[in-house]
Amino acid sequence: MKRLFLVALLAVVPATGLAELRIFACEPEWAALAEELGGDLVEVSSATHALQDPHYIQARPSLISRVRRADLVICSGAQLEIGWLPKLLGKANNPDVRPGSDGFFEASMWVSRLDIPESVDRAQGDIHPQGNPHVQVNPHNIATIAIGLGERLARLDPVNGDRYVALSDNFQHRWAAAIERWEKMAEPLEGKRVIAHHKSWVYLEDWLGLEEVANLEPVPGVPPTASHLAELLARFGTEGQGADFIIRAPYQSDKASNWLSEKTGIPAVMLPLTVGGSEAATDLFGMFDDILLRLLKHQ
Ligand SMILES: [Zn+2]
Repeated sequence: MKRLFLVALLAVVPATGLAELRIFACEPEWAALAEELGGDLVEVSSATHALQDPHYIQARPSLISRVRRADLVICSGAQLEIGWLPKLLGKANNPDVRPGSDGFFEASMWVSRLDIPESVDRAQGDIHPQGNPHVQVNPHNIATIAIGLGERLARLDPVNGDRYVALSDNFQHRWAAAIERWEKMAEPLEGKRVIAHHKSWVYLEDWLGLEEVANLEPVPGVPPTASHLAELLARFGTEGQGADFIIRAPYQSDKASNWLSEKTGIPAVMLPLTVGGSEAATDLFGMFDDILLRLLKHQ
């Protein structure tokens, strides 16, 4: 009787209560990927949400305690989180997730990074000296990162190794089919010219054959200024022939893109830069579906 009761009790404990690995993701896209590859073996939380700028957040006490209890920390890396992650790791003082250990996973190190500067000069703004860290907006990058992450989960929790392999295989199959579908869908977008708020979209552009012709930020990391916007207006004129889209992420103010859009007639489009960035972007599949649908609506 006692045993039966215990079984019944276990059945109502949420799956996360029984998780084998506690994962702390810096950004929602990596939390979503960890959930795909870890299923109910992992308990995942994200430091940031889609309406926060992942370059700048506070190392709050609640985040420190989550890092302290984590078995694995997953971040974009390439210095995207340089303003807050070192502080967070230092205060949490958890040797299991120290950079260089198996408990620390830097997603951007698994892909070939774009925009690696020849020389580093911080006066040029937030230039991402290790190359552009916004690697999540090319689904081929996600596939490569998923291979590394799947192996890492199995290494950290070898008892469940087979289950992680099965989850990874399942994800890779569904992902490859989705990529095929997206690439067909995106054909009309090839060659379109983009004015991007921040350099958040270089991997998307590289994937789809889009051309980035300007940024709303005068230098990366510096918010749009009136004089820079005036220059863009002079350059793109009032007929809107020089570009096809003005793109921003949900956490960026829409003021600059709307202003330029009104003056030039170039459509301003908000795209989910991560999971949760739009109503439809409920997971990684929904994120890419919605990015493409939003662009296709305006072409
Ligand atoms: Zn950036």
